Amino acid sequence: MTPHHFDNNRSELKKTKKLVIKVGTSSLTHATGKLNLQKIDSIVLQIANLHNKGIDVVLVSSGAIAAGLGKLGLDKRSISLPDKQAMAAIGQNILIHMYMKMFSEYGINIGQVLLTKEDFQSENRSKLCKDTFDSLSKYHVIPIVNENDAVAVEEIKVGDNDTLSALVANIVEADLLIILSDIDGLYDANPTHNPDAILLPYVDEMTPYIESLAQDTDNIMGTGGMSTKIEAVKIAKLSNTKTVIANGNVKNILNDILEGKSIGTYFNI
Ligand code: GLU
Repeated sequence: MTPHHFDNNRSELKKTKKLVIKVGTSSLTHATGKLNLQKIDSIVLQIANLHNKGIDVVLVSSGAIAAGLGKLGLDKRSISLPDKQAMAAIGQNILIHMYMKMFSEYGINIGQVLLTKEDFQSENRSKLCKDTFDSLSKYHVIPIVNENDAVAVEEIKVGDNDTLSALVANIVEADLLIILSDIDGLYDANPTHNPDAILLPYVDEMTPYIESLAQDTDNIMGTGGMSTKIEAVKIAKLSNTKTVIANGNVKNILNDILEGKSIGTYFNI
């Protein structure tokens, strides 16, 4: 790692043709649990624009369980596993309805793809998934992916959408995976406890040091934390997919990343 070399081939990102974007619950909901329509609309607008530029985008979106909880006015801490699954069943519809409404404003069709771990465990299942994504792409439809939380019991769960997005990146052989979260990227120390913490603009090798930084930031993150994001970076590498971790609340973030601007942490490993 050479921290002063800020570009580190970011110009490569301008050539992105196939892109997987993961949006976390914190980037889609308010503290009340209800959907943050402004944030969703901003992300949809940016994705629609990338789509219009000819970039093939797959969106992996969390927020189903949160949307279900918000709808029924329940608190996440007080519900059982079956209730959580029910919240996913309720919330996934709310989420997709909102995406459909917003994407259609920009003239774009969407398709819902709900997956579980089993879809990635055999070559045959993965091939079937790939065929679905390829066909959606052929018809210029943006796939909106989530885990099939309503039925996925622990044994067949991927468990978090950071990992899910990387597995999807493998299947579609994406050039780039962008993980949008509520943190600006990977820091050299926990930024909530250390005001001098510095954001790493890029990482070019997955060293034990980098992995230890992820552990340190875990408690400030929502579902998954930074360690699942680092695991996602490693999985994405299997299909030669680069990863950027960035803050979904920053205006025009997707375009800026794809223009090669130094924003978030770029994992060119
Ligand atoms: N699949 C979950 C949901 O849509 C989110 C999982 C995650 O945030 O990693 O609510």
